[in-house]
Amino acid sequence: KVRVRFAPSPTGHLHLGGLRTALYNFLYARHLGGKFLLRIEDTDQTRLVPGASERLVEDLRWAGIEIDEGPGFEGEVGPYVQSHRREIYSKAIGELLQNGRAYRCFCTERRLDLLRKEALRTRQVPRYDNKCRHLTATETEALLAKGTPHCIRFKLTDHEEPLEDLIYGSVHHNVSDTEGDPVVMKSDQFPTYHFANVVDDHLMGITHVLRGVEWQISTTKHLLLYKAFGWQPPKFGHLPLLVNADGTKLSKRQGDIGIQHFRQRGYFPLALINYVVSAGGGFEHRTNAKQQLLSMQELGEQFQIERVNSHPSRLNPELLDDLNRLEIGKRLSGKESRGELVKQVQDLVKEAYPKHSNLDLAEDHILDVLNWSSQRLTLLQDLTSSKLSFLWVKPLDFQLKELTPQQLNNLLKELHSHQDFAKDPLNVRLKNFAQTEHLKFPLMMKALRAALSGLKEGPGVAEMMEILGKAVTLERLKEAMP
Ligand code: GLU
Repeated sequence: KVRVRFAPSPTGHLHLGGLRTALYNFLYARHLGGKFLLRIEDTDQTRLVPGASERLVEDLRWAGIEIDEGPGFEGEVGPYVQSHRREIYSKAIGELLQNGRAYRCFCTERRLDLLRKEALRTRQVPRYDNKCRHLTATETEALLAKGTPHCIRFKLTDHEEPLEDLIYGSVHHNVSDTEGDPVVMKSDQFPTYHFANVVDDHLMGITHVLRGVEWQISTTKHLLLYKAFGWQPPKFGHLPLLVNADGTKLSKRQGDIGIQHFRQRGYFPLALINYVVSAGGGFEHRTNAKQQLLSMQELGEQFQIERVNSHPSRLNPELLDDLNRLEIGKRLSGKESRGELVKQVQDLVKEAYPKHSNLDLAEDHILDVLNWSSQRLTLLQDLTSSKLSFLWVKPLDFQLKELTPQQLNNLLKELHSHQDFAKDPLNVRLKNFAQTEHLKFPLMMKALRAALSGLKEGPGVAEMMEILGKAVTLERLKEAMP
């Protein structure tokens, strides 16, 4: 049975890269009827951010990623937070010390620092020289007896281990090119990422590790650890880098990439998810990703790891807007989702105009507004932007001086008697009116637009009248009487 995991370090918010990793793991599990685990990797105590784990869980939930096992979703192989598993790691370390695959290292920070400096001076790769590997048992005992601080290192006796990456194919990497024996347990008694990660993946029965390609160079080391324990390693698939449209690395500097940011701006989860997977492949080929939004279920059905690209995944922000527009349309056409949408708009409008007590928040009106505007909306929030706020509140005082009071009265009468308050017949009516009153049509329309919306340009005047309805239209025009 397939078991996959998402193993973030709780060092901040979930961002697009993390969301994609979680998502591919989740979809993989769903595709094959397996389990998706969440494991919190918090062994680097210096980098912890309070509340980050809770936020991660909440962001995943928002995105529609369901956790089968994890903190708060206890299964049989927990706890799922590494700092609660220290005994497990100590035991595993004991095993490696026992069979001679690990050793205690008493080198001081100062010595390590000198080694680093010397390497830099001679232009070599800084790496530990494995000095303590050669301590005798008696020497080690003596240092231990004195309570000398120490860490534990893994003996890298092999340097290569072939990796058949599910996405990249055969990968070779010689660990000794870049490092000496790696630390597996730090002097603060916390395991390092590499060690805890391997032990947990094994004990949690993980069958496939799908993670960012930045971890690929660590995988050889991980495979060597599995070998030292005599454990069968999981299969590995590394996900290509997520990059900007121009190929540069995604980073906060080019705009916020945190999930929170997209949530707050009002993007829908499904739009964000389709966006994040759009760049990396993994699904049936689509020529018009812009016009198609796949449900989580469909994504799960289609997902195949072999289809994930190995070249960097370029994100195109315009696609996110297109997808969100699609999602608004989709929600509007579903019976249940339509109700939720109306509720969201009601909340938004109330929040945007807290001082107005007579907002028209009737469901019918909101549905009319949504049907009318869905083509121009990227986000629901656009409904309260300056261009559309006329839908809800009267524009600032405006005097309709282009028409004489008499003309305006005539117009009010005309409109009042007009039964079918729809854009096309209204347009005809307005044209005729301008002719009869010898008014220049474009000028009259400009003035009416300003009186109705405070806008200099925007939707057609007849269209505005239709969406505002007869009562509001007449009221606003009346109030514009000089
Ligand atoms: N804790 C690592 C991270 O923050 C996990 C890497 C892995 O999936 O093995 O990304």
